[in-house]
Amino acid sequence: MKKSKGEINLEKYDVLIVGGGPGGSIAGKIAAENGLKAVIFERGKNSGEKNASGVGLTPKIWRDFPEFMKKMDLPSQRVARMCTAHLTDEKGEIISELAWTPSKLNTYKEAREFMTVMVYRSQFDKWLSELAVEAGAELKTSTLIMDVLRDDRGKIIGVVDESGNKYQGIVIAADGAMSTIAHKSGIRSKFGPFDTTLVVNYDFEAPVDKIDDIIGDNALHTWFGPLYPGVYHFFKKDGFHIGLGQWFGSITKNLRTYLDTCIRSPPVAKMIKRLHAKPREFHAHMLPWLQYPFKTFAENVMLVGDAAGFPCPLEAEGIWHAMYSGKLAALNAKEAIDNSDTSAEQMKKYELAWQDSPLGEEFAAGKEFQEFWAGLPFNTEKIGIMNDLVNDALNLFTGATSHIEMSRMFFRHLRDEAPELVPLMRKYTLPYLGRIMEEELTDYSPLMGILDKMLPKKDKRRKN
Ligand SMILES: Cc1cc2nc3c(=O)[nH]c(=O)nc-3n(C[C@H](O)[C@H](O)[C@H](O)COP(=O)(O)OP(=O)(O)OC[C@H]3O[C@@H](n4cnc5c(N)ncnc54)[C@H](O)[C@@H]3O)c2cc1C
Repeated sequence: MKKSKGEINLEKYDVLIVGGGPGGSIAGKIAAENGLKAVIFERGKNSGEKNASGVGLTPKIWRDFPEFMKKMDLPSQRVARMCTAHLTDEKGEIISELAWTPSKLNTYKEAREFMTVMVYRSQFDKWLSELAVEAGAELKTSTLIMDVLRDDRGKIIGVVDESGNKYQGIVIAADGAMSTIAHKSGIRSKFGPFDTTLVVNYDFEAPVDKIDDIIGDNALHTWFGPLYPGVYHFFKKDGFHIGLGQWFGSITKNLRTYLDTCIRSPPVAKMIKRLHAKPREFHAHMLPWLQYPFKTFAENVMLVGDAAGFPCPLEAEGIWHAMYSGKLAALNAKEAIDNSDTSAEQMKKYELAWQDSPLGEEFAAGKEFQEFWAGLPFNTEKIGIMNDLVNDALNLFTGATSHIEMSRMFFRHLRDEAPELVPLMRKYTLPYLGRIMEEELTDYSPLMGILDKMLPKKDKRRKN
């Protein structure tokens, strides 16, 4: 558009979406489907180019976006139907392994069929952005948004890109953990040291047939032990990524050193060798991991996804959270346009909507979840005690000593470790249980009563 003298050159849209990740693309798609003139600004040459190498997509995404997720067919995707947690000792050797499959308690179909689908972000994000374009949204790639645009009264009316181009419309900030819009709009200050983690990971390539044969659909692995804070290890069609993270405020050692230690530990090194895997890339990313999100709106602005601090406080999953919040923000933008109302009150309806949704429920025990992770799986000094305990419990089923004697030894060991264990349980596990139980814990007393009646009394023991 040519600018005449003295005239402000503004490109006008209904909605301006900053960031072409999962949150931005869904916001753009839903806005366009609802008849809004929407544009997505992405600083990368393509969506996904700047994002973490690979992720696991959880069944919630199929539950809430079935119409297009059922059609997803990306070259890198591998379905994970089993998770395996490897518990290791101070030498990095495996002492126990726990594996599990989807629970029959799940209430929606997809969640009974698989645990995650693994994909590379370069493929997934690009595919989602194409869906937004197909729906009618405009996608401006290689466009970095630098600031919000304000009118003479200081009201935010749009955004400005690095070339000084100005755009007017409702702003949906989907610009990730370091959101420019969140700061420039004044909605929140930068995340603090215990609101964000640094996540480092290696991406490895490996022949498809090797991963098929050795890993198959047991594609979600974790490693917990005294040598490194909890490590995730996710397999895609032709490769895997392995990584770990810590809150900035708790980092005492270079995280890459921990990761290298894990990769060189005997069982991981053996797995890498058996898979004929070769390192392809090293990444370091910021990932918000909050106990509870801060404010997520201002007049004419809404924050979604990582910009809002939405990754789940239990496992830092954030793709569904970004997509779901992107949808809610787009629907509120539609209502705002229909009502010609972009006031803070109208934007607040978005915040109330996510708080009152499955997304808000994710944060019901945010503090307890975060403290559990910091206190145990990420705590290299304490995790060894837990690993030994799990292993000892499983040893009740082995025959090295009589089962009775092994059971007695286990309970004596538990009693001797109680001064160390009880404070850990009290601090990191019981607060979580207390928080999530809909009923009071005392409502479970009938269960305890039944158990008590079932326990054989000492004087009734059989004597041979
Ligand atoms: C290592 C790692 C592993 C993860 N694993 C998982 C997992 O397995 N499963 C899961 O569900 N979640 C995972 N997450 C979390 C997940 O990646 C995020 O929660 C999710 O990507 C958030 O989506 P988003 O759209 O809000 O932001 P992002 O995905 O961060 O997208 C933001 C987009 O905005 C663009 N952008 C930023 N600033 C500007 C600007 N000023 N102008 C224009 N464009 C801009 C960026 O280039 C980017 O494309 C992981 C995160 C990390 C770091």
